[in-house]
Amino acid sequence: MAEDDKELRKQVAIASRVIGLEIGSTGHVSARVPGTDEMYVRCRGGGAEAGLRYTNLHHIRQVDFDGEGPGLGKRHFAPGETPVHGELYRARPDIGAVVHAHPYYTLLCGVTGLQFRPIFGGYAPAEAAMAIRGVPEYSRAATVTDKQMANDMLEVMGDRDLVLLKGHGIVTAAPTVSRAVSLALQIEHLAKITWEIAAAGLRAPDMSRQDIDRYDPNNPNRGGPAPGRGRQAVPAEERGWMVGHIHRLEETVGLPSWELDEDG
Ligand SMILES: [Zn+2]
Repeated sequence: MAEDDKELRKQVAIASRVIGLEIGSTGHVSARVPGTDEMYVRCRGGGAEAGLRYTNLHHIRQVDFDGEGPGLGKRHFAPGETPVHGELYRARPDIGAVVHAHPYYTLLCGVTGLQFRPIFGGYAPAEAAMAIRGVPEYSRAATVTDKQMANDMLEVMGDRDLVLLKGHGIVTAAPTVSRAVSLALQIEHLAKITWEIAAAGLRAPDMSRQDIDRYDPNNPNRGGPAPGRGRQAVPAEERGWMVGHIHRLEETVGLPSWELDEDG
């Protein structure tokens, strides 16, 4: 068993709270323990289960890719959908963190077959890129509780960083916890806009070809700010980790995110 990386576990705990606050109380976040065949995953139990928003450090347990680990089975239990995480880490060495969540608007778009369209650009460039590229869709609505289902889902996902599970939820995967969380928040944001336009009985036209090209992640000539300007000029570690979300957690949940309780 690898040495405990408390900082990474804390990231998974805070990420779980962010997902709980912004998306909903169920689901789970995990991170690969670097250089090992193990992961930190948000487990159930350890006293009253109040949902992701109230995740504490003790919920984040170190387990292998089958969800087995010391300390489980008495008070803490690996999620039923552990294969989502374990099989993803097995198949994709590039992935360091996984989020599985059940976002409401993404569900509505999925079950009604409402497609994401490239209708906006600078308002939310990451979501624009997602709409232009399209989101792979796994058609089974059941929870992903075995390896076969997880691998079927991975086949649909391919080398992408997200997959929509129709009638169920989403899975996002990235090198870092913050990136995997951002992807989950972004697809739900895109779905909310898409749904609200349709629910209002309106239709938004696609952006111009020129603007679609500008936000198309596959377009090598898409341009953008000069390297010395804007977001790129500030290294990721100096932008802080999910600072806005952590402040919102403080305001709403009323618990300082960095004082995570180790005992459940
Ligand atoms: Zn699920």
